Amino acid sequence: MELYKGQPVALRLREEIKEKVSAFKQKGIIPKLAVLRVGTNPEDIAYEQRVLKNCVICDILAEAKECPADITTEAFLSLLDGYNRDESVHGILIFRPLPQSIDQEAVSLAISANKDSDCMNPQNLNKLFLGNVKGVLPCTPEAVRELLLHYVGSLVGKNIVIVNRSLVLGKPLAMLLLEENATVTICHSKTKELSDITKKADIVVTGVGRAAFFGKEYFGPHSIVIDVGINEKEGGITGDVDLDAVSGLIKGISPVPGGVGAVTSMLLLRNVLFGICEA
Ligand code: NAP
Repeated sequence: MELYKGQPVALRLREEIKEKVSAFKQKGIIPKLAVLRVGTNPEDIAYEQRVLKNCVICDILAEAKECPADITTEAFLSLLDGYNRDESVHGILIFRPLPQSIDQEAVSLAISANKDSDCMNPQNLNKLFLGNVKGVLPCTPEAVRELLLHYVGSLVGKNIVIVNRSLVLGKPLAMLLLEENATVTICHSKTKELSDITKKADIVVTGVGRAAFFGKEYFGPHSIVIDVGINEKEGGITGDVDLDAVSGLIKGISPVPGGVGAVTSMLLLRNVLFGICEA
């Protein structure tokens, strides 16, 4: 069974990003990311630290702002407006989900489409749904596509099942994979006989958010699995697939940790650079 690790893909992206940053610097442009976090969720803080570390490695400036958990929509929008107008900032990352007290739709509409490094503005999602895969793309779905292109190669005609229909993962990923001419099926919690569907697929992308949900009954020896799930386990994280149960019984899997996550955080930085290209 092959392990489709994220690191080789992340390292290639890192080198590409560093080259582009260096070219921008020669033109006097210093790329900069602003990170806006509301509250002190430990998972958000851990991701923020990873992003800031990657910014240092890639020579991208970063500014992180922690907002109080009870910040109002108005105050948050005013802060965001400042970063939208700040010409030294090329990308903005806002941690989601935002607390109930903040109008998330208003925030998504307010973030400058050019600086929308996590692809939350509907303008950027619209572009993708219209078949335009240039520029800013949602990081997690794009990480899945990058991993598949690296390890599988051409996806033309591949039968790909995505078990997730969220706007963060399943729906945009389906659009990206259709652009690769794959045959895409989206499954969700109301899907009947899920294992019959996944077992027949060439590639299964799992994103249900339940540890060890997918055992060997969901796959066959030909199955290629990209596990996107992140679930807490014994102080660490684990994916949606029961790795012990499927080990040796499928063709390959991208593990959690060590798979999609590393690629996702690099793609966020690539999106910051698109903010410069499109400015
Ligand atoms: P979400 O909005 O809760 O979506 C979960 C999806 O799983 C929904 O479409 C849901 O169906 C489906 N589902 C739940 N139970 C199911 C079942 N028994 N059978 C079939 N489908 C089922 O979560 P999300 O934001 O998309 O995130 C999904 C997972 O990806 C989470 O574990 C999250 O932590 C992880 N994630 C990873 C990254 C990364 O970079 N690696 C980034 C973002 C998210 P319904 O629509 O019918 O409810």
